[in-house]
Amino acid sequence: MEKVVIIGAGCAGLTAAIYCARANLSPLVVTGLMPGGLLTTTGTVENFPGFPEGINGFELMNRLQAQAEKFGARIKFGTAEAVELDRQPYTVVVDGESIQTQTIIIASGASHRHLGLESEKKLEAKGVTYCATCDGALPVFRNKPLVVVGGGDSACEEALYLTRFGSVVYLVHRRNELRASKIMARRALEHPKIKPVWDSVVIEIKDVDLGKVTGVRLRNVKSGAETDLECAGVFIAIGHVPNTGVFAGKVEMDSNGYIVRKRGSETSVRGVFVAGDCSDHEYRQAVTAAGMGCMAAIDAERYLAGINQ
Ligand code: NAP
Repeated sequence: MEKVVIIGAGCAGLTAAIYCARANLSPLVVTGLMPGGLLTTTGTVENFPGFPEGINGFELMNRLQAQAEKFGARIKFGTAEAVELDRQPYTVVVDGESIQTQTIIIASGASHRHLGLESEKKLEAKGVTYCATCDGALPVFRNKPLVVVGGGDSACEEALYLTRFGSVVYLVHRRNELRASKIMARRALEHPKIKPVWDSVVIEIKDVDLGKVTGVRLRNVKSGAETDLECAGVFIAIGHVPNTGVFAGKVEMDSNGYIVRKRGSETSVRGVFVAGDCSDHEYRQAVTAAGMGCMAAIDAERYLAGINQ
């Protein structure tokens, strides 16, 4: 029987693991499909406190995992495919194996949002991608026009990264003002290779018949005019959706699928706590996820000790 199972191995999950391990709870961390979480797909993280020179996202997550393991956390590679929360002990099913546990910390993070186009689905990994740092350096994108969709920090970051490879980077945004933080927006808009395309949405990605990206069809949301833009790659950075499907109907969620936090990190189920992007659509920073992971670990520890109940 486990004391704590942590579902997710991003910033929130691994920070919870560090705290639980140091509290002698020997936590079991179930990694999910993306150990290290979304931060492993980012380049340099410039705003994590303590790293004035920045730190690579992948390295940061490796360090968090090493820190958690050093204190006794156990990492289990696999996906939590079902949970049973009706009675204690709770059950987490990981790739067919049932694990009994007294408490659970849900830190399952979020995934990239998709545009929802048929052509997007058909051309995924054939020029359509959700991660510039993963795919931007591929030869197919070199010295070619590229499109980034979105207006937030992620879109700006992706566009800036892609200026190293593309001949020009079109930043296609559905409004005429970026949502990104001032510093990121300024960097993007001042870059000579980045050309904003305002008030526009992608309605089709071409060319499904050729099996590769040759361009996008855009619609101007104000005039309704449709135009074609030639490009070799489409990088979609339009936000995230929480990875909470497995908890549907078991833990209270809001209408967008984010797990609702009660007092501290408590969920609607006693002994089940939550941390990070799967319950936060507002801040979504590495440091806030880490902070929430710390809170969840402390709450789980107190619950196990019979405090605050
Ligand atoms: P975000 O801030 O939610 O921005 C998503 C962008 O995509 C918005 O501009 C939105 O348009 C657009 N969008 C959403 N759905 C769309 C659709 N169906 N079609 C077209 N456009 C669509 O997401 P994010 O940029 O991934 O950032 C998430 C969080 O991570 C933020 O808190 C951000 O600060 C943080 N972050 C920080 C850094 C950094 O500090 N270096 C880097 C990356 C992310 P509207 O603006 O019109 O809503």
